[in-house]
Amino acid sequence: MIRFGPSGNSESFYAQGYKHTYQAMEWLENMGLNAYEYSFGRGVNLSDESAALIAKYAAAHHIKISVHAPYFINLANPDPEKREHSYDYILSSAHAADILGGDRVVVHVGAEMKMQRDEALRLCREGLKEALLRLKDAGLSHVHICPETRANAGCPLPLPGASRRFCPGEKQKSQGVNHDSIRAFGQFGKLLCAGL
Ligand SMILES: [Zn+2]
Repeated sequence: MIRFGPSGNSESFYAQGYKHTYQAMEWLENMGLNAYEYSFGRGVNLSDESAALIAKYAAAHHIKISVHAPYFINLANPDPEKREHSYDYILSSAHAADILGGDRVVVHVGAEMKMQRDEALRLCREGLKEALLRLKDAGLSHVHICPETRANAGCPLPLPGASRRFCPGEKQKSQGVNHDSIRAFGQFGKLLCAGL
């Protein structure tokens, strides 16, 4: 099933007098949509209580929620302390996704900064493996990391070849990697990096 929906609330939602994200679930259903991306672009700042309320309304209105992890994540950063921050962002996003009733976390995996692209990709692969282990340890292995590639400068993940390099042996399923240019929620598929 392919699902469609917005990331965040549109201006028209607020213009119609709505204020809260839980209210968006019925609003989306009335528009014929069935997915919603909760964006934590600038940090994970949703209480468990609010997430549970949104989840309740999402279920009632047949909306599947996914989460976008903070933009600050950079698994290509060789600094161990900075990588720890990236893992924390992924874990806290996965926790929120779980309470929201979702099981997918979109992650901008990393940027190459000044290093060679191959080195950045290697670090990203290692980082994703580590993130998966940490999700498992946290009891969140059912939450899928959806690496998102972007075509803009400074990103180590050009479309679409590099995304496949994160998923060796899984070429046929490479639609599981989320591309900014292909934001159809249903295309995410399962976490493909399990085969790393
Ligand atoms: Zn994104």
